[in-house]
Amino acid sequence: MAPLPPGSTLGILGGGQLGRMLSQAAARLGFDVVILDPEENSPAGRVSRGQIVAAYDDPTALNVMGRVCDLVTFEFENVPAASIETLAGGGALVAPGPTALSTAQDRVVEKTFLNAVGATTVDFAAVDSLDDLTAAVTRLGLPALLKTRRDGYDGKGQAWIRTAKQAAAAWKAIGEVPAILEAKADFTRELSIIAARGRDGTIAVYPLGQNHHAGGVLATTLAPAAVDTKTDTRARAIAAAVLEGLDYVGVIGIELFDLGHGTLLVNEIAPRVHNTGHWTQDGCVCDQFEQHIRAVAGWPLGPTTAHARVEMTNLLGEAVNAWPALAAEPDARLHLYGKAEARPGRKMAHVNRVKPLFSVGAKRTGRGPVS
Ligand code: AMP
Repeated sequence: MAPLPPGSTLGILGGGQLGRMLSQAAARLGFDVVILDPEENSPAGRVSRGQIVAAYDDPTALNVMGRVCDLVTFEFENVPAASIETLAGGGALVAPGPTALSTAQDRVVEKTFLNAVGATTVDFAAVDSLDDLTAAVTRLGLPALLKTRRDGYDGKGQAWIRTAKQAAAAWKAIGEVPAILEAKADFTRELSIIAARGRDGTIAVYPLGQNHHAGGVLATTLAPAAVDTKTDTRARAIAAAVLEGLDYVGVIGIELFDLGHGTLLVNEIAPRVHNTGHWTQDGCVCDQFEQHIRAVAGWPLGPTTAHARVEMTNLLGEAVNAWPALAAEPDARLHLYGKAEARPGRKMAHVNRVKPLFSVGAKRTGRGPVS
């Protein structure tokens, strides 16, 4: 495909902070952006050319998006795959495609795909009833984590089972819906890799980030993570296998469990820009948002090397009220999402604390930064 020229109109399904930062990156490349989101005045809608306020499966809204936009993408994986199919079926250019979306929407389909392309995961079993769960507990052993197959995010819809007696309560806690039981990953730390694939099949991979979660929600990312060559090589191979296996176009986020000695398991994939890639805004010349726009628009992919070390911290709920102090920190770059109401746990902003990549006079070893 010929690169989409500046002046073209891009559509984004989803108007949250990811859509907002995608829209800002697209505007810098000369594109106009239209958002589809059911919530009026969405964070992305407020910085875009316009917003259609309608449900993601509203046929009229999808029809308008298809006609107005030269290309449509999405900012979160829970948009109905049928909507993407409707858009594509109507002749609209859509990226990433419906397969990537439907694969990531169902944890069993996702893990089956990952293992098929050699991106190993924890052992798992599909669970559709309490009997299934009992059998899965026997097969996988305990502790194990019961998760809903669909619609889970930020640790929601999950229950740990530590003793066989807890199985029934866990099944109830997640709402007795189609689920997956996962063996516990004995990881030493959580890493993630942000990667992109262009329309010509070119792949670009950012340095790994090291993530810390609190209460199932991402708290901080440190990047580039200090990793040995074996781990780095393995992560890049996983990214390539996943991107090629899905014939993917755009940016993807891949969450990894680091078991040590270069052994990585994939936790999950997000077919979109990712919270653990926010560090690239202040650590790389071309951040993940611009990279996604470049990839879907058929432009050459941008550079992914880090020019700084970044500590990204999410500001949830009332934590955003610290903005005056954060704005006064000399090395901190504040990214506010323009959300009016600071509900507990709501992602309101993030701050990137920018540090030199290498200490002065330090000798570089491996691919990671010198701490
Ligand atoms: P998820 O919603 O699948 O990303 O899970 C949220 C967090 O729960 C992860 O970042 C891990 O800290 C933890 N977690 C998820 N799955 C497992 C597992 N199979 N074993 C151990 N910890 C897990």
